[in-house]
Amino acid sequence: MPAPTDTTPYDVDAVRADFPILSREVYGRPLVYLDNAATTQKPRCVVEAMVNEYYSVNANVHRGVHFLSQQATELHEQARERVRAFIGARSAAEIVFTRGTTESLNLVATSLGETLLHEGDEVILTVMEHHSDIVPWQMLRERKGIVIKVVPMDDSGALRLDAYERLFTPRTRLVCAAHVSNVLGTVNPVRHMADVAHAHGALFLADGAQSVPHFRVDVGELGCDFLTFSGHKVYGPTGIGVLYGREDLLDRMPPYQGGGEMIAHVTFEKTTYEGLPYKFEAGTPDYVASHALAVALDYVDRLGMDRIAAHERRLTRYAMERLGAIKGMKLYGTTDNKDAVVAFNVGDIHPLDLGTLLDRLGIAIRTGHHCAQPLMQRCGVEGMARASFALYNTRAEVDALAEGIERVRKMF
Ligand code: PLP
Repeated sequence: MPAPTDTTPYDVDAVRADFPILSREVYGRPLVYLDNAATTQKPRCVVEAMVNEYYSVNANVHRGVHFLSQQATELHEQARERVRAFIGARSAAEIVFTRGTTESLNLVATSLGETLLHEGDEVILTVMEHHSDIVPWQMLRERKGIVIKVVPMDDSGALRLDAYERLFTPRTRLVCAAHVSNVLGTVNPVRHMADVAHAHGALFLADGAQSVPHFRVDVGELGCDFLTFSGHKVYGPTGIGVLYGREDLLDRMPPYQGGGEMIAHVTFEKTTYEGLPYKFEAGTPDYVASHALAVALDYVDRLGMDRIAAHERRLTRYAMERLGAIKGMKLYGTTDNKDAVVAFNVGDIHPLDLGTLLDRLGIAIRTGHHCAQPLMQRCGVEGMARASFALYNTRAEVDALAEGIERVRKMF
């Protein structure tokens, strides 16, 4: 992905006014919220969309002949179409609503695992995967005896593409890679990685949990067969996520869960399944959340993804400079193509102490292993502190973080 170059003025103060929570205080200090890789705050329009739907539309979708059910169904299906357009999928049948990235990944591991993968088949992951893209594959390994291989990285946090290519064998069936690392911020070259996978006859899944919220992601341009992301990381509600899958693949994959909504006909002897995408959506979907996710995507589009990306890249660069100047600072993830996440340790200060003391200054960062323990092992640490940015963060907040870290450093 080329670095976004949009220089149109970006009025971050006006943007912040859309997020009521940002004006609150913690411990009597203005909130500096820098934990956006964990979850983003919600603009007023998203919360209002949910309140309005519960107040004036609410009814279960798909099965009702009555007015409200049809209206709720329309909103839910419009949301699917909205997601389709947002990521450039060809058909709404390729958009499966899930609870989030984790469920999307479990769906693929379970369903694809049942059909396509056999004992001895190989799945390639990267050393920087989130646990949600490691554990489901390990569970599948226990069930079916698949083999997991891991792409290593260099000390800057870039994947070793030479080593990647050497991992392929005639048994390689699938590659799963984070589009952006939730710890290092590295933007992985997924187009290239997908091309390599395809050249070896393997499929490619991109985990877009940390890319979809930050820059324009188009599944056609990426060349991926699957893409996963979570609504709550892209200013939408919790409890809703997306699995994009190529239609011909989803068609061949068996259902993930059984129940209502996903069937065509049921007898005690035999059940036939609905078509795509409903085959993968057993039970009542979170239709209020899907609609609110569509509202969040509209919001992001109104601001302009390229402008958001340019703003966040400037902020990330500034944070790297500002934090890099602090004595004893160790920054993790120093590649040029880096997005919205800065992970670090300072001298011998335990990241938990750092996070707790910064919290008393009103600064919310995340500390620990960030659901990426193999990456921590690769970096030789038990944990890191992490600041992560969103479209509403400011340079002044980066200054507050840097000053806060200086203050804590002097205590030790
Ligand atoms: N993948 C990545 C890269 C993530 O950063 C996260 C969450 O932080 C996940 C997957 C899991 O997302 P969720 O907890 O929303 O399912």
